[in-house]
Amino acid sequence: MIHEFLSLVDIENFQAIYQKDISDDKYFGLPLEPIIACEKRLRAANERGIAYFSMEYGLATSFYNKFTTHRPIDFKNKTQEHEVFSNFRLADYFFTLKMDSIIDLPIYSGGLGVLAGDTLKTMADYKLAAVGIGMLWNTGYFRQKFWFKYGQLPEKIHWDVYSYPGLVPLKNRVKISLRNEEIILRLWKYYIYSYKHDYALPLILLDANIEPNSNKMRSLTDQLYRSDDVWIRVMQRVILGMGGVAALKEMGYHIDLFHLNEGHAAFAFLEKARGLSKKEIEALKGHFFYTCHTPVEAGHDRFRCEDLSKILKKEDFEIVQEYGRDVAGWINLTHLAMNVSSVTNAVSKSHQKVMHLQFPRYRETIKYVTNGVHHHTWLSDRFMNLFEKFSSTFVDVKANPYILAKARDLRQDQDFRRDLWLAHQENKADLCRLLEKWKLDKDVFTICWARRVAAYKRPSMIFYDINRLLDIAKKIGPLQIIFAGKAHPADNLGYTFINEILDKVDGLTDVYDYLRIILLENYEIYLAKLLTSSVDVWLNNPLPPFEASGTSGMKAILNGIIQLTTLDGWVAEAAHNNIGKIFGYRYEEPKLGSEYDLHLESDSQQLYLALEELVHLYYRTNKRGKVDLSSPWIDMMIDCIATAAEFNTYRMLDNYKHSIWHIY
Ligand SMILES: *Cc1c(COP(=O)(O)O)cnc(C)c1O
Repeated sequence: MIHEFLSLVDIENFQAIYQKDISDDKYFGLPLEPIIACEKRLRAANERGIAYFSMEYGLATSFYNKFTTHRPIDFKNKTQEHEVFSNFRLADYFFTLKMDSIIDLPIYSGGLGVLAGDTLKTMADYKLAAVGIGMLWNTGYFRQKFWFKYGQLPEKIHWDVYSYPGLVPLKNRVKISLRNEEIILRLWKYYIYSYKHDYALPLILLDANIEPNSNKMRSLTDQLYRSDDVWIRVMQRVILGMGGVAALKEMGYHIDLFHLNEGHAAFAFLEKARGLSKKEIEALKGHFFYTCHTPVEAGHDRFRCEDLSKILKKEDFEIVQEYGRDVAGWINLTHLAMNVSSVTNAVSKSHQKVMHLQFPRYRETIKYVTNGVHHHTWLSDRFMNLFEKFSSTFVDVKANPYILAKARDLRQDQDFRRDLWLAHQENKADLCRLLEKWKLDKDVFTICWARRVAAYKRPSMIFYDINRLLDIAKKIGPLQIIFAGKAHPADNLGYTFINEILDKVDGLTDVYDYLRIILLENYEIYLAKLLTSSVDVWLNNPLPPFEASGTSGMKAILNGIIQLTTLDGWVAEAAHNNIGKIFGYRYEEPKLGSEYDLHLESDSQQLYLALEELVHLYYRTNKRGKVDLSSPWIDMMIDCIATAAEFNTYRMLDNYKHSIWHIY
């Protein structure tokens, strides 16, 4: 089998480096056969192959479908220490969190990457003839350090690409010709297995870090979302789009459907359109699909015509000019992607309405498919066990997450209510154990805010009025608040939120008995998994309507975690389901408002009112470990689980198959 595999996947330095890990029937510990099956299908002329493009992938490789290797894991690929900043001052000086597992493949920054990863995993579960296209970020995104109480310090990641289990360099190269120069790309492969390990689709990662590229060229695939230089930003998009299509050709894959995530990948069209007649170009559009993931300004790429014309070949630039025009002198990759795709989709119903306002000319072609999360990745083991214990209700939940809707049938089942509570408390005990130096208590109300730090997500809102927060903790019951998130290194406004939070928490050292605040450095996927399955309440307070979808709350409801959230993104579709408390500013059409007018004063007051009610209910439900199983709190947990029937990637992929790609 190994020879068949190597004839399809030509690995560089196979003998010297990879031979031990890829044997006759195993690929880094997982079965080799499913890889061969998928590689063959992608090359078969009768398959309608799908190529899925994304700048970033968050694959959760540290805990989901882990590969094994005969070689020791390089220390650079192991999770390092996390500092913790809390208002329990003693702890900060003496203790750090140590994690000794492999790092998640560091080629993502946040929710978009995690969604792309969850999508590939679901495509593997569905056994589609699909391939992912992405970038091999040689220095990842960045590692976040807190600089005591003064803010965030980004550090470069030095991971070892050659010893990361499952990742292999190919002998294949592709060349992209530009106006005045050429760039050579090396291709890497990683495999995405189905949860049953009976299918595995390739993810191709593009890498500029090789000879004979100049040093400047080689650094193009160093850091994800480096934004300090126009040439770098354009070239990264050239690599993903044009390089990606060239890589598919080099692999011999028959691709019928090209799915672009964000305008980042829009140059893929150029590579396919080169040399075609006008009529052929029109026909080509039928094979392109585009998902827009954000209404915020920074998410839309705009470039000056003069910059692009200096980089792209004349004929490529002409297509960009024809299909990507914005205001005079500018090209907008969102316009380009919409103009060259047969369907554009928003990522929630509310985001579709926003897109209709932002792009009225494209009203007819903009649909929506609400995002989801991959339940095999995000469901905690204890909750999977719980559902399997009640398998006469949750029939075949592994293959059919829609069945979670049946949780409502168990509302009156005392055994289910008890086991659900116990499963949650055990998950919460894991969190408390990890943070044992900080003396967290599993019978204390625990709320978490964790995601990318961006202004519209309003990271500091719960700390807006510390006295009000203290008041709730003193009068109703103690609070544990967990916070984690990175701000993009160029996002100065993002930095100020982190500074503000660190500074405020620094002033709260004498209230630790009833208000415990834990700030975790360097938010990564494995922390997301832990937090979205262990706290009591998931806090989500973006400014409507700027959260296109949001997905962390979906991870939380799978694990029965109650939501405290504004009405935005996916939440607007779930708000009637008794998943928690909805508060705050409501956006009204047709005025979008400003993503910088944060309504902090009024929304934080509403947040505290809603929090107060939740804390009240929590302590009526959990009286120092004595639980009232008839509490409406447990009804809410059940309704969260039932809602997860809809907000998962199986439902999402079904939508893409039926209403976007039309494959059955
Ligand atoms: C799920 C996830 C996100 C997305 O969070 P939102 O709620 O969509 O803002 C960001 N970062 C990580 C690491 C995640 O796992």
